[in-house]
Amino acid sequence: MTAAWRLLALLAFAAVGQAHAAEPIVFDARVVGDDNRIRFIADMSAAVAPTVFTLADPYRIVVDLPEVDFALPDGAGMVGRGFVSAFRFGLISSGKSRIVIDVSQPIAIDKAFVTEANDAQPFRLVIDAVPTTRAAFDAATEAYRRQQKAAAASSAEREFNRQGNGDKPLVVLDPGHGGIDAGARGVNGAVEKDVVLSFSEILAREIDKRGRYRVLRTRDRDEFIGLRERVDIAREAGADLMVSIHANSFRGRNVRGAIIYTASEEASGAMAEELAASENRSDILAGVDVEPEERDEVTDILLDLTRRETRNYGVVLARTLVERMGQSVEMFKIPHQQAGFKVLEAPDVPSALIELGYLTNATDEKLLTSPEWQEKAAASIADAIESFFAARKAGLGIR
Ligand SMILES: [Zn+2]
Repeated sequence: MTAAWRLLALLAFAAVGQAHAAEPIVFDARVVGDDNRIRFIADMSAAVAPTVFTLADPYRIVVDLPEVDFALPDGAGMVGRGFVSAFRFGLISSGKSRIVIDVSQPIAIDKAFVTEANDAQPFRLVIDAVPTTRAAFDAATEAYRRQQKAAAASSAEREFNRQGNGDKPLVVLDPGHGGIDAGARGVNGAVEKDVVLSFSEILAREIDKRGRYRVLRTRDRDEFIGLRERVDIAREAGADLMVSIHANSFRGRNVRGAIIYTASEEASGAMAEELAASENRSDILAGVDVEPEERDEVTDILLDLTRRETRNYGVVLARTLVERMGQSVEMFKIPHQQAGFKVLEAPDVPSALIELGYLTNATDEKLLTSPEWQEKAAASIADAIESFFAARKAGLGIR
């Protein structure tokens, strides 16, 4: 006889589809308890071992799992309970999934375990947390960080897929968000991480078609990549150019049009500053442990010189993008803006971030998800990239 929960898992399995049929499925999750103790419970089709740690500023519980498929009911994780305010879930890297639980105060993980399935209930991941002091919380977080550092030091370095044709310039396309970080949501349901992933695929094809460039994408699936990691991917691959692809959102539903952003400590306005802050939150949403970078004064001066030159190239790229994209798609009234985007921080790779349009505007949302618009916009961006390299080669408009 089939247990009721197996039927639920089977339904979730059908919803996920055949693409990842091999992964365990998490088909329900909830928080019970009160201000003295909360229990997070996830129902699963198979047992997976969790790694649990905590992060501060803001307080978060991070639960790492081997890759699973999340097929949770709509709205799961959006309502809080006790000191839990919300939770998110998704793929964090190849072969690894993550759940991030937001909490409103320092907590200690009391228990974390998985129970076997029986006829009455599925496999269950259970995490118990209780309030603690900030000092105790910091000690636990620091212990985990040390352990991770030791593990990282012994692991192999990232390998890059460098194909031949090394003499052709390398364009890195960086679709924003992914996995656990969904990004902006459209008025009619479009999700930024999906919109920018499919757009980047079309853009990569368009650039590749021209035969003069190599293209590398920071992600080609629904997977989370940290902001610093995106920058590292571009730098380590020897990118000549990096273009981050995003889709915007705003309170006002009439606001629409594409905007090109470049890096600057000084934001060009409140809107740009707000957007950069929101995009920079990606690591926090995903439970990435971002340690402050150590500063060395001599290196800093050299780096600043390189950075200034690189930023000038970034501005040239942005102007070219505004010009070319402006011929085929709707641009915002101030089409080039600046702010402190973390993903544009590569000191030696000219970078720009394209907000394709506003998902909070129904017209833009419709366009951004239509193949005709995508092809048209991709062609104009590829044109801009060609102009940029031509100008750079001729030494025009720079220095
Ligand atoms: Zn974004």
